[in-house]
Amino acid sequence: MLSPREAVRTLPSYHPPLVGRNGLRLDFNENTTGCSPRVLERLRRLSAEDLTKYPEREPVEAVVAGALGIAAPELLLTNGVDEAIHLLCETYLEGGDEALIVVPTYSMYRIYILASGAQVLSIPAGKDFSFPGGDLCGHITARTRLIVVANPNNPTGTVAPLKEILRIANSAPSAAVLVDEAYFEFYGQTVLTIRSEVPNLFVARTFSKAYGLAGLRIGVLVGAAEQMCAVRRVSSPYNVNAVALACLPEALRDQAYIEQYVSEVRDSRTRLERVLREFGIQFWPSQANFVLMRVGEAAAFVEQMRRRGILVRDRSSDHACEGCVRITLGPRAHSDRLFTALQETLEGRGIEQGASLR
Ligand code: PMP
Repeated sequence: MLSPREAVRTLPSYHPPLVGRNGLRLDFNENTTGCSPRVLERLRRLSAEDLTKYPEREPVEAVVAGALGIAAPELLLTNGVDEAIHLLCETYLEGGDEALIVVPTYSMYRIYILASGAQVLSIPAGKDFSFPGGDLCGHITARTRLIVVANPNNPTGTVAPLKEILRIANSAPSAAVLVDEAYFEFYGQTVLTIRSEVPNLFVARTFSKAYGLAGLRIGVLVGAAEQMCAVRRVSSPYNVNAVALACLPEALRDQAYIEQYVSEVRDSRTRLERVLREFGIQFWPSQANFVLMRVGEAAAFVEQMRRRGILVRDRSSDHACEGCVRITLGPRAHSDRLFTALQETLEGRGIEQGASLR
């Protein structure tokens, strides 16, 4: 009888709650307004010819390399950061290997690592979800072949200091060290600048968040050119579709759109953190486009918010996140709607009233 590989038979499944997302989408860390109008304009101009041909990745890779200030051989466009993670697992991991991740973090690291047959070592974040750099270093062994750090991290919004990432990468020269910068635009700091000092470092970026293109599925993986040759061998030559490739240069050209969006989200983040302080709700200061907070009965809170037209995410089953929800931020108009629903929900739950929501 046909049976999947053992690693796959025991693999947990990850089902994000995508069904019935009617309301203001503050549940998936997407852009809440939509992409640059220049992208939509490019979409309208797509022809049958564009869709008939197999997609050609290289010319667009040259554009992205230029935008990032790196050489094209250091870069691979991917079907979202998810594919970048998958490709690294396929390239570097096999049965008996170990991979280190910090928990809580993005769910797909664990899935792709386990699917490869390697083992996951989960290192708990420190106090207030601080980056456990020392503990991570302490768990590096000869079997460590992959270390993944989301920076900023999801769902906590906390960050890893550049120095600690450097120390980890230097302590594990036979491991691929992936720094997932999916939320880079909202943070502004990158490890791309140190890549020439660190031959085992990889950096992933996505166009799913600030750029508002989650539905197109496009991201970037950057690494040393000789390592990227190996990763490219594992990838399909057609891994990124023609529509995404056509739109990406337009998205990159409209930096004014990104700057405006990011600045509005940062403003909303400051306002939300003030509101939470006033309500006495525990939260963790975030460098991303979302904030994790402890509301108590997370499922009931999510449902209350949904009834008020706002979708937020229950994260209470993540490591050390009992009673927590994660709320994505958008521009001012969206945070105004969020604050109204938040106030009604919190007051309904008997939490102190009268806090100003400005
Ligand atoms: N990395 C992190 C840290 C994320 O939070 C997410 C999405 N939630 C992803 C990667 C997935 O990105 P993409 O849409 O590019 O696959």
